[in-house]
Amino acid sequence: MTSNNPTILEKFKEVKNLEIIESQSDLKRLSKDFYNYSPILTEKLDGCIADLVVRPGDHNAVKKVAEICWEFSIPITLRGSGTGNYGQAVPLFKGVVMQMSYFNKLEEFDPDTGFVKVQAGCVMGDLNKKLEKYGRELRLLPSTWKTATIGGFIAGGSGGIGSIKWGFLRDPGNLIGLEAVTMNEKPVLLKFDAEESEPLNHAYGTNGIITSLILATDIKRKWYSLVIDCIEFEKTIEILKTITSAAVDLKLGAILEEEIVDQMPTWFRNKSLSNKILVQSTLGGIKTIELICKKFKVESTLLGEEEKLVNGVSEVVWNHTTLHMRSRDKNWTYLQMLLPQNNELKLINFLRKKWGKKVLWHLEAVSQQGTPRLAALPVLKWNGPEELNEIMEDCKNLGAFIFNPHVLTVESGGLGVVDADQVKAKIKFDPKGLLNPGKLEGWAIKEQFNI
Ligand SMILES: Cc1cc2nc3c(=O)[nH]c(=O)nc-3n(C[C@H](O)[C@H](O)[C@H](O)COP(=O)(O)OP(=O)(O)OC[C@H]3O[C@@H](n4cnc5c(N)ncnc54)[C@H](O)[C@@H]3O)c2cc1C
Repeated sequence: MTSNNPTILEKFKEVKNLEIIESQSDLKRLSKDFYNYSPILTEKLDGCIADLVVRPGDHNAVKKVAEICWEFSIPITLRGSGTGNYGQAVPLFKGVVMQMSYFNKLEEFDPDTGFVKVQAGCVMGDLNKKLEKYGRELRLLPSTWKTATIGGFIAGGSGGIGSIKWGFLRDPGNLIGLEAVTMNEKPVLLKFDAEESEPLNHAYGTNGIITSLILATDIKRKWYSLVIDCIEFEKTIEILKTITSAAVDLKLGAILEEEIVDQMPTWFRNKSLSNKILVQSTLGGIKTIELICKKFKVESTLLGEEEKLVNGVSEVVWNHTTLHMRSRDKNWTYLQMLLPQNNELKLINFLRKKWGKKVLWHLEAVSQQGTPRLAALPVLKWNGPEELNEIMEDCKNLGAFIFNPHVLTVESGGLGVVDADQVKAKIKFDPKGLLNPGKLEGWAIKEQFNI
């Protein structure tokens, strides 16, 4: 449609500061993300390839691309680094993929509030480096922080390292504002405050082209990583809960079941084979955590300052755990859920009894609206969609809230309901429905949203 129509292609080529990528191998590569963790998504998405990939160098180029796409009704799918797991950055209906790599600058830092204004395509590892000189760091990081962009994290991610203290990206106070280009006849750059930004937060780029973000940051601390060995799995939960309710600073708290530890990279699994609790805290906090370990009669090993480690625990948590499992055996897939408060073990024990080692447990400590909770990213041996559904039903029946990573839409992978404000924003800023079409379920029933 775009690449085989010379008139349209010519129009894109006339745009100043716009890199155009046309080679078939690049189009294929830049139309994919990490959806292959889900056999269901793999079947649906393997054939989806963009007609054209563009990389704008400035706001004018973004607006020009939007204008051409509006004129010819061409879909645009935004792309950061393409590390999403839900096929968020995959163009379902071909068209243009717009990669934001050149939008990579830290624009402003406010020392009074600690707010940073940064362009959407900035890689989080680079952003954290830039923040160092202000004595600050990002509050929340996905385990892909070395390669993933901040715009992709806000538009497609949820939380990760840091969620133990700061909750999730959509919690009030994390995203302070943003700037986005609209997708209409005369695209414009708009500024959104915290409240106006909410509908664009975790909307998979379906209702605006985010060019920069204003985020709250944290004071930079030296985080130390500690690994605790625990023979009884049930005790790991009790210990982690004791740690999360202690008066210590925490960046991370995770539990890996022994069978998962056994599949992790050699540097990690060789230390000793048992269930493990992984913690990141300040050096002061570590002293308290070591005392807790002593009381529970479990061994702990201080690995050192995370940033200085050749291999740190950040590489074996969140979805990196699944990554390592899959590098051993591609039949592993996973689930994401918030476990029922204070009933975590009832659920885990039920599933262990019913499903045995087909489901292995990986837990992450998070803060949910200020309350310490446990999330789980169990890995599962793939045995077809029926079994997957039965496992999810078991979890739901026992009180878990599932964030299904085997679905394509914002709603099905998240809260399970249509967010009227996200749809209203799409009606306003993308009236033809050209931004990442097929990813916002609410768009199909937009007539219900009276604006
Ligand atoms: C091994 C592994 C571990 C992971 N761990 C975590 C984790 O701990 N926490 C977590 O939340 N996620 C995690 N993820 C998912 C993903 O890595 C993160 O969400 C990451 O932040 C996405 O950033 P990205 O630049 O790759 O975005 P992309 O995948 O390129 O895009 C994500 C979504 O954002 C949209 N988008 C991108 N840029 C813009 C823009 N400028 N304007 C509007 N929309 C835009 C895209 O269209 C897409 O819908 C993990 C994935 C893998 C493979």
